Amino acid sequence: MGEDIEKLKQRLPLLDYLRQHHWTARPVGNRSEFVGLCPLHSETRPSFYVNARKNLFFCHGCGQGGDLIRLVELSQRLSFRQSLAYLQQQGALADPAAVLEETAAFYQRQLQCHPEARRYLERRGVHDPALVQELQIGYAPGGNLRRHLTAQGYPFDLQRRLGLVNPQGCDTFYRRVVFPCRQNGRLVNLYGRSIVASAPPHRFLPGSKGGLYAWEQVRRGPEVILVEGLFDYAVLWQAGFHHISCALGTHLNTGQFRQLCDGPRTVYLTFDVDANGSGQQASRWLAHRLWAQGITTRRVLLPQGHDPNSFFAQGGDARQFHSLLEAARP
Ligand SMILES: [Zn+2]
Repeated sequence: MGEDIEKLKQRLPLLDYLRQHHWTARPVGNRSEFVGLCPLHSETRPSFYVNARKNLFFCHGCGQGGDLIRLVELSQRLSFRQSLAYLQQQGALADPAAVLEETAAFYQRQLQCHPEARRYLERRGVHDPALVQELQIGYAPGGNLRRHLTAQGYPFDLQRRLGLVNPQGCDTFYRRVVFPCRQNGRLVNLYGRSIVASAPPHRFLPGSKGGLYAWEQVRRGPEVILVEGLFDYAVLWQAGFHHISCALGTHLNTGQFRQLCDGPRTVYLTFDVDANGSGQQASRWLAHRLWAQGITTRRVLLPQGHDPNSFFAQGGDARQFHSLLEAARP
């Protein structure tokens, strides 16, 4: 219990809590002390002091002082136990996955109000609403996530720690199509694809990108098509190929490699055939490592300059792709 309270107070600093509740203050002397009007009694001249380093307050007007929980007790007229419950409800002890879920759901709704994002999806060959729903694809217009999450009771500090917003409160994902990345059903990261050419195309939140995409759905099957990117995944799924997974890049992390090796199967490596050959180089290297683990691999050769996404977006169909799978060699 005591440890939980300490954690809670670390997660939600007193000053952040007060600011969320629109307390305005000015710094006094050094940067860790602030003074403003007392939220506990009525006054016109500020006498409520907060020491941000010690995480404590004291009011020279009404004589009250203490930590965050004491402040909640006094301001909300709650018992100690009720104050803890109140702070929990406010999201101070929120599970990071719950915040990511809220964010993903918010971005999904945004997709409906932003035609530029839907046009981008069309251009990339993604047009099936069932697919958009299935993959929970969303859109981050930028500029409004913080307000939404704060209104849901998720502290700014938590949003920042998850990398959803920067220290200035601006969205990390700005004009990006967003895909939630799950592992065993739990949301572990978000992938954002910029829809404007001037920004870096790919972005994840800090931390692990998780395992292979949608692995639970294919792990028991005898065959799996492995692609680099989520747009490759999306168009193949749309074309009726559902035994697919995505590595979210050409470099597999240890967990992803282990997943591919966790049982007998044939892996169809379907990486980009790009001009500099990096996709095919990665594909050969991965095939070799999988072969060493006793896994059968086939390298699918798309036409020069293509990845699965461009292949389908530029008119390729399921029958043609099927021929490529049949022609794939070890
Ligand atoms: Zn006071």
